[in-house]
Amino acid sequence: MSNKFQAVVIGGGPAGYVCSIRLSQLGIKTACIESRDTLGGTCLNIGCIPSKSLLHLSENFFNAKNLSNLGIETGDIKLNLDKMMKNKNKAVTILTKGVEFLFKKNKVTYFKGVGSLKSSNKISIHDKQTKKETIIEAGKIVICTGSEPISLPKINFDEKIIVSSTGALSLNSVPKKMLIVGGGYIGLEMGSVWSRLGSEVHVVEFLDHITPGMDREISKEFMKILEKQGIKFHLESKVEKIKNNNNSATVSILNKEGKKSDFKCDVVLVSVGRKPNTKNLNLEKIGIKINKNMTIKINKNFQTDVKNIYAIGDVIEGPMLAHKAEEEGIAVAELIAGQSGHVNYDVIPGVIYTSPEVASIGKTEEQLKKDNKKYKIGKFPFMANSRAKAINEAEGFVKMLSDQETDKVLGVHIIGPHAGEMIAEVAVAMEFGASSEDIARTCH
Ligand code: FAD
Repeated sequence: MSNKFQAVVIGGGPAGYVCSIRLSQLGIKTACIESRDTLGGTCLNIGCIPSKSLLHLSENFFNAKNLSNLGIETGDIKLNLDKMMKNKNKAVTILTKGVEFLFKKNKVTYFKGVGSLKSSNKISIHDKQTKKETIIEAGKIVICTGSEPISLPKINFDEKIIVSSTGALSLNSVPKKMLIVGGGYIGLEMGSVWSRLGSEVHVVEFLDHITPGMDREISKEFMKILEKQGIKFHLESKVEKIKNNNNSATVSILNKEGKKSDFKCDVVLVSVGRKPNTKNLNLEKIGIKINKNMTIKINKNFQTDVKNIYAIGDVIEGPMLAHKAEEEGIAVAELIAGQSGHVNYDVIPGVIYTSPEVASIGKTEEQLKKDNKKYKIGKFPFMANSRAKAINEAEGFVKMLSDQETDKVLGVHIIGPHAGEMIAEVAVAMEFGASSEDIARTCH
């Protein structure tokens, strides 16, 4: 096999695999290096896909248990967690193998191993099993090494009692009591899964609201709905210490009144954010700068300080979302091929796959206020929507923010049934620069 490529992509997640395939489709001889045993990155292996599978399955379980309220009598509904996990693992295997197939089909050379930069056009690949090093050469290099969960100071994940999202996706029994540190979307999705399967779930959040960055009205409604579902929130509280007792954990919490308490639970999920994987790549050695938050510094064309080396996905600034990473993968491949790829960061939807779903795009009301932008608000509750009423899913509302003078849509935030699908329509409308009247006058 020749070790010279026109482009080499480090990392085979949504950013890296999409970029590799697009590069190859554009006629560029491409290789992709992935350190994990399977392709697909965090998203397919330990992120979006397994979490969405468990959200779907646990929702079915929960709904099935409550069917008699709707006049459907069933026998005893029982959980087979082992089978549920196998089902989730099957989805992961099929999809990661699917990416490998796409690599073959599109003639992307796949190297298994840990990639690091030797120089601005030489990359070392370290095979973890054979301990062998292979050096390959590339005209262009794209860094797509993604991110990993952050823990709290002095707290280590054992992925059984003190878990990151990775461990929370593979627990082998339903914890009686589960404490989640951090009220962000990953913690709340995992909290929903285990709460539906029978856990008593508590969320400890440092701020006075959950889901930081989300439109505040939506975030308030979201917390109210989750509370009704049984999740307990401890806001303005700080986890100071977690003691792993091997079969349980004791969590020391300081609340807003300055009162300390110890909370005993079976599993603690620490879900306080993710950090970019920039270590061990030799970035500084070859002159690539990193920002304070550890993301790689790039220009508007995704180029690092070394111009033939690019970076995309979770490893750069911006929302850590798979579809944002994929968009960047396509854009950078097109730029490398001499085309004019770009990403419109004003129109990137975000969805939380709880029940109901929460979906957002564009600016929040708080951001518009901060930017001194004059805006109008349109709101509609699902309570007044016949179909939502008919299917007993009438919680939540839609909030649309538009420019006060031009009526151009600036942001839309939905909490309610099928929010994740509906937001896509808004994305199209916003890409076409629609006004709120354009959407209102469209016969749906
Ligand atoms: P990654 O997916 O992290 O891929 C990077 C890859 O690079 C990894 O496979 C890693 O092994 C590899 N790598 C790292 N260093 C090296 C090296 N030196 N050499 C070779 N390979 C290396 N996003 C959504 O949009 N929707 C969701 O519903 C959603 N749900 C999520 C749920 C959970 C529980 C988690 C954890 C994340 C979720 N995300 C979701 C976020 C999404 O997974 C990430 O934004 C996305 O995976 C980022 O893609 P990436 O390619 O930049 O990085």
